Amino acid sequence: MAEREPLVRPTESGPYCVAGDFYIDPWRAVERAVITHAHSDHARRGAKWYLCEASGREILQERVGTQGTIETLPYGATTTIGGVQVSLHPAGHILGSSQVRLEHQGEVWVVSGDYNPTHASGSCVPYEPVRCHTFITESTFGLPIYRWPSPEQVFGQIHAWWRRNQENGIASVLPAYPLGKSQRLLAGLEASIGPIALHGSVKTYAPMYERAGVQLAPSVTLSEATVPEIKGRGLVITSSAAQEVGLIRKLGGVSWAFASGWMMTRAARRNRDFDRGFVLSDHADWPGLLRAIEATGAERIGVTHGQVHEFSRYLREQGHDAFVFPTRYVGEAQGEGLQEDAPAAANEAI
Ligand SMILES: [Zn+2]
Ligand SMILES: [Zn+2]
Repeated sequence: MAEREPLVRPTESGPYCVAGDFYIDPWRAVERAVITHAHSDHARRGAKWYLCEASGREILQERVGTQGTIETLPYGATTTIGGVQVSLHPAGHILGSSQVRLEHQGEVWVVSGDYNPTHASGSCVPYEPVRCHTFITESTFGLPIYRWPSPEQVFGQIHAWWRRNQENGIASVLPAYPLGKSQRLLAGLEASIGPIALHGSVKTYAPMYERAGVQLAPSVTLSEATVPEIKGRGLVITSSAAQEVGLIRKLGGVSWAFASGWMMTRAARRNRDFDRGFVLSDHADWPGLLRAIEATGAERIGVTHGQVHEFSRYLREQGHDAFVFPTRYVGEAQGEGLQEDAPAAANEAI
């Protein structure tokens, strides 16, 4: 039997579904784009038509502007694009993040986007495995060293750090990527400990999460007016420190920490710009990747977006039919100051 044409293939503009004539997370201007989620390395301006999950619509609009049309699908609903059945399934990464399921002539592919099957986040619908013949998986943390502690444990550490800072009469500062990580922190923080302030740079998306029904801890905006309330006892979530050094300086003594999956690496932990590092990621860790791949039952696994060579080699050694699916991966949120999940963030954040 002749090899079938792949349902999705890499192109100069991004992953392309030939049979349906549309792209998934394209990086160039195209006619039709199915978007896994609104992080800037997945959702770019310039498409004439976008499809995303319904709860992520407002965020995508904010990201891509008003030039193109945005259509939405709720999780699990199916639409047909050029003869290909398309549905979106929870990826557990950020609000509205989806795995894209494609079905054409009995063949099923799932493109994961970024996904977090390891620990459910309080700020989005938990990841759900989807059965398929071919699974395209991200591999941001596709090395055995990456194993996340439970979020309960991590939030316990964050709260203990915050309380200790209060005892020492200083404020706590947590830089976090404005979309996704900031809201995950807000959904997990214990507001009874003290006041929480958001710097202007991380304020945009919280109301969108709340309108989508996500419960976030109450917060104020960090400003001249709120500095006295935050000083000595509050917790500030900010994007990159460079922009707000003025206001943070007005808080007097502060302790800086950083929350990311990269905190598992020694280099990140040793970074002296931070007093504390917390391991909190919105991506799959190593055991999460392996479990997720098994759960799809896929015969073929395409590895993209991260540790592609190491992870695909490991999968082949385990007997999987695994291949590298090329992408123009540059890490989350390149060019936005603080990168959500890149090691460089630890250096750039101050
Ligand atoms: Zn992402
Ligand atoms: Zn990504």
